[in-house]
Amino acid sequence: MMRQAKLVLACLVVICLASGLTPQFSRARTTFVAIGTGGITGVYYPTGGAIARMINKKKALYGISCSFESTGGSVFNVNAVMAGDLEFGVVQSDRQYQAWHGLAEWKTRGPQKDLRSVFSIHPESVTLVAAQDAGIRGIRDLRGKRVNIGNPGSGQRQNSIDALRAVGLDPEKDLRAEGVKAAEAPGLLQDGRIDAFFYTVGHPSGAIKEATAGARKVRIVPIRGVETLLKKYPYYAPALIPMEFYPGAINREDVPTFGVKATFVTSIRVPEAVVYAITKEVFENLEEFKTLHPAYKTLTPKSMLQGLTAPLHPGARRYFEEAGLLR
Ligand code: GLU
Repeated sequence: MMRQAKLVLACLVVICLASGLTPQFSRARTTFVAIGTGGITGVYYPTGGAIARMINKKKALYGISCSFESTGGSVFNVNAVMAGDLEFGVVQSDRQYQAWHGLAEWKTRGPQKDLRSVFSIHPESVTLVAAQDAGIRGIRDLRGKRVNIGNPGSGQRQNSIDALRAVGLDPEKDLRAEGVKAAEAPGLLQDGRIDAFFYTVGHPSGAIKEATAGARKVRIVPIRGVETLLKKYPYYAPALIPMEFYPGAINREDVPTFGVKATFVTSIRVPEAVVYAITKEVFENLEEFKTLHPAYKTLTPKSMLQGLTAPLHPGARRYFEEAGLLR
């Protein structure tokens, strides 16, 4: 008995000594980081999950434990990252631009100087979903209708307002605007409590599938006549919603609209080693990453450096320079 105990003790001493000689494996401290996403039926939520899983696989190497959570969306995520409540956030490229320059929701608080870009992800399109029985075939038909334009804190709210104003509709006077979260909108549409909703999202998205798969027949409405927006704002570009993902919708042709990009952001206060590790894992396993959601189909290392306004975080920059993606 005594002998066995001595043996165990000896083994422990050897293990401790050995680990002392290889500090990268003996790191007792784990750095915990969290990613802010969006509603669980959007694309941000699985994106946060994909990034977190990728880095957690290498916990022994990096000493990073990453979680992800559902939030109100882009604007919420920027503010939570700036407040230090979250380390990372998925944020629309237009919202990143506005936060960096102190526009829109950041007009009174001013430019968010601690905001840093990491990389960009999938394209997102401003998606207008309407009930067939409401007779909405174009954005101008929203006049007098009950429409969810997006919750405060979401990315889509400003996109809806911009699109409505571009066609001469006042969101406050010309329609009955609701401000519920995107995850709730499909249910409200199916229950007949709203006529339409806007959602700026990658495709396919669970929310749009849910909205188009119910008993109430639904159309994805083209957003035309917004050329002024595309000229005025550098972050908006024409986009096409692929209808192959939504067989339940009554229209079959791909739907023209405008869009932005999802981006991954952090704060200057997040350690360089953490941002470096996450960037490296995503880029070095990009082919695997791309299999995790069909919205990532078109991603390339080059495209993932586009659509960023805030300066690159030094950890991301270090990886991109090492990988020859930046000089
Ligand atoms: N674009 C939305 C937002 O910024 C979120 C979309 C998603 O969750 O995929 O609020």
